[in-house]
Amino acid sequence: MNDEQLLRYSRHILLDEIGIEGQQKLLASHVLVIGAGGLGSPVALYLGSAGVGRITVVDDDRVDVTNLQRQIAHTVSRIGELKAVSVVQAVAALNPDVEVVAVVQRADDVLLNHLVPQADLVLDCTDNFATRHAINRACVGHRKPLVSGAAIRFDGQITVYNPQISESPCYECIFPESDLPEEISCATMGVFAPLVGIVGAMQAAEALKLLCGIGRVLTGRLLLLDGRSMEWHQMMLVRSEGCAVCGTARVTS
Ligand SMILES: [Zn+2]
Repeated sequence: MNDEQLLRYSRHILLDEIGIEGQQKLLASHVLVIGAGGLGSPVALYLGSAGVGRITVVDDDRVDVTNLQRQIAHTVSRIGELKAVSVVQAVAALNPDVEVVAVVQRADDVLLNHLVPQADLVLDCTDNFATRHAINRACVGHRKPLVSGAAIRFDGQITVYNPQISESPCYECIFPESDLPEEISCATMGVFAPLVGIVGAMQAAEALKLLCGIGRVLTGRLLLLDGRSMEWHQMMLVRSEGCAVCGTARVTS
């Protein structure tokens, strides 16, 4: 680290759990953020400000005026621009140290199987079940930790799926694709603005902990937030023996 970096990251370096060694790990890390909306905004901003060296942001959507109520990386002047490019601009303005790359494509199996192996971990900041399952398949297949967040109305969820740990469930274990619930989206259901900030900031926190190897991450624990009463509930998650995604993948590995 140069003098400017020692100064910029001094409040991280002061933490015993992080220190110079942890900060160097962050600077050498590459994370993949899928989704540049309500969750992707705080995730990218915090990972960028914290000095995660490489951040790849995937999104094929454009900034709309209805996004600005909660998608804090975007601005009035960037309405109509690509969200992934807008987030890259926001992170670059915050920390020129970080290499941020926009991938303007839908996150399908082909793209994910190309991008996921290059990253140290993946953050699911999407808003639909089909993409969530595609991300999960790629993370299990390439054995990459997945920090998963969701927010709708006043309800938030966050957990970590880590295929590097044998007891860890995957997304399919908990939410099997065969009994997909009806798709609900912010466009039809609404979402309380700070909720995506709360969940997104926690996703960033879990990602930084995983990258530095500190603390106890949310693997095997699902946190559920009721924003109306501001109460958290914790559910313990277990692997499904017959899981269509991680069941066979891990027998052969
Ligand atoms: Zn599974």
